[in-house]
Amino acid sequence: MRNSIFPALYILAAAGFILAIKWMNSPVTARRGVIAGEIGMLLAVVGTLLRHEVVTYQWILIAFFIGSALGVPLAYLMPMTAVPQRTAFSHACGALASALIGTAEYYRHTPHGFVMTALVLETLLGFLTFTASLMAFGKLQEILPTRPITYRGQNFVNLGVFALAVAIGIALILSPERTWLFPIFSVLSLIFGVMLIVPIGGADMPTVIALLNSYAGLSASAMGFVLDNKLLIVAGALDGSSGFILSVIMCRAMNRSFSNVLFGAFGTLQVSAQKAAERPVRSASPEEAAEILDSARSVVIIPGYGMAVAQAQHKLREMFDVLTRRGVDVRFAIHPVAGRMPGHMNVLLAEANVPYDRLAEMDDINPEFPRADVALVIGANDVVNPAAKTDKGSPIAGMPILNAYEARTVMVIKRSMSPGFAGIDNDLYHMDKTLMLFGDAKVFVGSIVKELNAAVAAR
Ligand code: NDP
Repeated sequence: MRNSIFPALYILAAAGFILAIKWMNSPVTARRGVIAGEIGMLLAVVGTLLRHEVVTYQWILIAFFIGSALGVPLAYLMPMTAVPQRTAFSHACGALASALIGTAEYYRHTPHGFVMTALVLETLLGFLTFTASLMAFGKLQEILPTRPITYRGQNFVNLGVFALAVAIGIALILSPERTWLFPIFSVLSLIFGVMLIVPIGGADMPTVIALLNSYAGLSASAMGFVLDNKLLIVAGALDGSSGFILSVIMCRAMNRSFSNVLFGAFGTLQVSAQKAAERPVRSASPEEAAEILDSARSVVIIPGYGMAVAQAQHKLREMFDVLTRRGVDVRFAIHPVAGRMPGHMNVLLAEANVPYDRLAEMDDINPEFPRADVALVIGANDVVNPAAKTDKGSPIAGMPILNAYEARTVMVIKRSMSPGFAGIDNDLYHMDKTLMLFGDAKVFVGSIVKELNAAVAAR
């Protein structure tokens, strides 16, 4: 009986994980997806806790309290804009757990053959992901310098350390009894994790985190082979492949290649923002902006990182409500890498209960811009920068953008002429049809809402 319960629990848990990923594909089913994932995890934990042969309850309780002491404050205290670094930190914890389990298994059983190969892979990926994720966390939290740190021959040195770790790993697979090699192998893996991140700028970290997610998943999957746990194999493979697919999607949306992200030291060129400041722009007040919006028939709102920083989504929802009541057709254009993590805008707008059917993906909304009376850009910059199309030398050359410049009038809410993530000037701000609305996104949208309400009341 007991023997049939575990596989059944594990199969149900695996089904929960797969359904979770499927349902999280759309905002409409995302909540269901989260619940399916949570139930899957609960079944997996219960299934494992029932296996007396692999469980020591007192240690699990200690680990449970330490994990909760770290995890609960993290979940409650870290703001939405800090989700990339929070994710990096959880990857670091997961990867360390995987690497330590590999180490313990090595010293307890010193496996041979296929299991030893899986163990080497598990520990290599586990240790390197641990230090790399901590570095990524440090850069994103700005505890460490965020700019890429490069030196001549760096890629050669990095690859050399990696090759040495792999060579020692192979030596361990061939003769696992050489226990003195294992600490060297582990230390080299830890060092490689640090070296991997040093040349990558803070700006590229979200993509790197998706990649590290993939490594942590592969490490967990390899651990499944070491521990002969099929659920770990499945869950790790799901994590590994989804992390990889996500990083590919992010690279594509930024028109960057993997090698460019990992070795390109993006963010070193600080293209002059000063030049931009000297060119003239037209600015407008909240009253003028409200007037233009009030007389428009169709408005496309383009949210970006600044909306997230300002937490302007609730005010935006109020503006959406007033305009919609006035018969204006309002839609939100979502760029795949707007903000600092995939789905960033979708999550914030969903939090403010903006109806999903008013959100449009880039390919669907781009043909609509020429018919839009107003494109209202809120804290977005790179994702509407025409330089991606016109300037071959630009760091964002080739990145698909939202064609806000095609709308009849463009209005841009941001605090200054400072550049965005890519550190480059934006010609959109200098076009004749563009009005700059200088201010914090939440405050400015709030003022527009007030003006719109006053206009409605006066009628
Ligand atoms: P950007 O980073 O290009 O621009 C954000 C703009 O918001 C800034 O120019 C800033 O201008 C403005 N801003 C900041 N704070 C506020 C505030 N409180 N109120 C109003 N405006 C504010 O953002 P985008 O969303 O356009 O582009 C995202 C960038 O991030 C892309 O380059 C993308 O490649 C990159 N990226 C995205 C990832 C993702 O997964 N989403 C992952 C990795 C990178 P000012 O200071 O003048 O206010």
